[in-house]
Amino acid sequence: MSEWKKNDKIELSIEDMSETGEGIGKTDGFTWFIKDTVIGDQVEAKVMKVKKSYGFARLEHIKKKSENRVVPKCPVARQCGGCQLQAMNYAEQLRYKEKKIWNNLVRIGGFSEVPMLPIMGMEEPWRYRNKAQFPWGTDKEGNLVAGFYAGRTHSIIACGDCLLGIEENQEILKRIKSHMERHGLRPYEEETHKGLMRHTLIRKGFKTGELMVCQVINGKSLPHGEELVKSLLEIPGMKSISISINRDQTNVIMGTQVENLYGPGYITDYIGDVKYRISPLSFYQVNPVQTEKLYGTALEYAGLTGDETVWDLYCGIGTISLFLAKKAKKVYGVEIVPQAIEDARENAKLNGIGNVEFFVGKAEEVLPEQYEKNRIYADVIVVDPPRKGCDEVCLDTIVKMAPKRVVYVSCDSATLARDLKYLGERGYEVVKVRGCDMFSQTTHVETCVLLSHKNS
Ligand code: SAH
Repeated sequence: MSEWKKNDKIELSIEDMSETGEGIGKTDGFTWFIKDTVIGDQVEAKVMKVKKSYGFARLEHIKKKSENRVVPKCPVARQCGGCQLQAMNYAEQLRYKEKKIWNNLVRIGGFSEVPMLPIMGMEEPWRYRNKAQFPWGTDKEGNLVAGFYAGRTHSIIACGDCLLGIEENQEILKRIKSHMERHGLRPYEEETHKGLMRHTLIRKGFKTGELMVCQVINGKSLPHGEELVKSLLEIPGMKSISISINRDQTNVIMGTQVENLYGPGYITDYIGDVKYRISPLSFYQVNPVQTEKLYGTALEYAGLTGDETVWDLYCGIGTISLFLAKKAKKVYGVEIVPQAIEDARENAKLNGIGNVEFFVGKAEEVLPEQYEKNRIYADVIVVDPPRKGCDEVCLDTIVKMAPKRVVYVSCDSATLARDLKYLGERGYEVVKVRGCDMFSQTTHVETCVLLSHKNS
């Protein structure tokens, strides 16, 4: 047991970083987790919570700065909680992410060697997000603000200019704010379920420059909507303006209904040379620059010559499928969300890609069923599952189908490591592992892995 108690002062050096971005240091062998610190910092901290073998403390003062410490660019970085690594220079962020992947593969995957290629970083690790959703509310003084929920709470911090988002966000919010003030439109209040204006959704096609605004409202219509449209259209690139009606008492942001106020109801963008139609409700990768690198790597690892049959599991709107289709004989995609499959089919049509077929359903149900019934075959299987990784039934079917190569794209290296271990014990060898930084300033990291069948 530790002798420490709440509010005690401790002094220590930060020697490591946790998965979630807290600095880790020790006092007499007792481990502390301290947010907003960087490896190499010497800090004073105040004890917040003590557990049996570790505790949490709050950074109070930096006695000696790490050589990798930088001043966070965003003035509300600490309160917001959206970015965990702003105090770390970018090279150190990339090292942190590579180490996170490596650690998981060694500790959870049981690999003694990891064939890692250098992580793909961003040239400019700011303003990379093509999508933002700002809640409206009032600050402590009762002023109308759009901003962010403070980390793990529902109180709003005013911040029109998130440095991960596009510069246009500010101008758009400014115009919506003045519209609200002019017509006395109130922000939505969660506690009372009153007030009209909920979130503002903004999206941009980075390659086309097209902008979309969708205002979520707790009501039937937006008063003087045509006036707001006129104002927003003065912003270069504005292509689509709509409202989404959400009258439910819920923390789900978008309503199911979208009403168009201006434009075709969607914007267009490209990843590589594949064109996508993005509507307010459709899924689209938020960092298109890095998505192109990540999926380009998946395509490279798939090693296609034009003769292959490929299955893309957890295919979403078919981003990877369409990328692969240009170099494969046939691509089959599987995805659980019907709307995403509708978009995938639409995107295939839009690009004149005919050699793809999509299935709605769970990968762990569709794949075994197709295998048992139709004896489907695959030269290559690509998976891009959500954080929880692949279901064991899905992995088992992959093993039975025995494709020459499996390309695993992952947003959680812990479940990735678990699944690689499973495949590694059943005939597959890990050939290449490469990280990709899709979410700079945060602790998240994407990984692309090539597995090859030992008998092929
Ligand atoms: N590559 C995709 C994104 C993959 S994200 C794209 O670019 O669009 C993971 C996807 O897996 C999500 O679209 C999610 O809806 C889907 N998903 C989650 N569980 C699933 C399951 N059991 N079977 C199939 N798809 C699933």
